[in-house]
Amino acid sequence: MTPDVRSPRSLEELWPLLEDGYTAMAGGTDLLARRAPARPERIACLERIACLQGVREEGGLLRLGACETHARLLRHPLAAVRLPVLARALSELGSPLVRNMGTLGGNLATASPAGDALPPLAVLDAQVELTSRRGVRLVPLSGFLLGPGRTALSPGEIVSAALVRLPEPGEIQHFEKVGRRKALAIAVVSLAATIRLDGEGRVTQARLALGSVAPTAVRCPRAEALLTGRHLDRETLLDAAETLREEIAPIDDLRASAEYRRAVAGNLLLRLAL
Ligand SMILES: Cc1cc2nc3c(=O)[nH]c(=O)nc-3n(C[C@H](O)[C@H](O)[C@H](O)COP(=O)(O)OP(=O)(O)OC[C@H]3O[C@@H](n4cnc5c(N)ncnc54)[C@H](O)[C@@H]3O)c2cc1C
Repeated sequence: MTPDVRSPRSLEELWPLLEDGYTAMAGGTDLLARRAPARPERIACLERIACLQGVREEGGLLRLGACETHARLLRHPLAAVRLPVLARALSELGSPLVRNMGTLGGNLATASPAGDALPPLAVLDAQVELTSRRGVRLVPLSGFLLGPGRTALSPGEIVSAALVRLPEPGEIQHFEKVGRRKALAIAVVSLAATIRLDGEGRVTQARLALGSVAPTAVRCPRAEALLTGRHLDRETLLDAAETLREEIAPIDDLRASAEYRRAVAGNLLLRLAL
């Protein structure tokens, strides 16, 4: 059946549609790939709503509009230059076609354990901005992602932006993804890291997040604590990798065993020495 598709030009035009049971759609790369009955028959496109787009500094944070596509974020100087951890992840998401259509807000709302943008957003201390007719609220990423496909979105509410901290100059930013093959594969394990060093090369702050090893993207507080205060050398990374393997509890699934995921997660950390 052909869906009933509406294209509101403002939030004011969107709210009555959502109240009427229409499903929000951004790029459609997830939504249109679903089969009936999971594919909605009434769709409200978000792409013409200007306030859901754009990247700008706001109150010391970077505001990434929910309807920015992955490709546009990759081309945006602020996002590409200041947030290489996110840019690297987006450059490995799907294919050029998927990156041209898919959006950051769609990646958040899909809430896949393997969502490529999610570990970078976790190390960038992202807050998710949710907007509805009732107003705007900010939810930390960890409170937004509740499980596979489950989020803190309430009925009538949309993701309007992600707010991320602006990393300090010189902060090390790193993203690695291991999939079943090089292209068009979702992550078997992914790692995002931001690390600050003092003048003597000791870690003053470490943020690590993994994808595909838990129901949502997760931070790794024990491995972060182990890195802090130490030189970022091979011995430290070997210790941190072991701690990281111990602190996660991945599952076996179609794509990989828990044991493989645990081993790879630690190994990805060792790449920080390269
Ligand atoms: C071939 C293929 C390969 C892919 N590869 C990857 C990959 O490697 N890594 C990866 O992470 N993902 C991948 N994806 C998944 C998908 O492309 C991404 O999750 C993308 O970011 C979804 O964005 P979208 O705008 O297309 O979402 P849509 O399909 O428009 O929407 C997805 C869901 O989010 C909701 N939604 C969308 N925007 C909002 C909003 N602003 N507020 C509230 N709800 C909203 C919709 O109602 C729907 O439930 C792939 C998809 C395909 C088809």
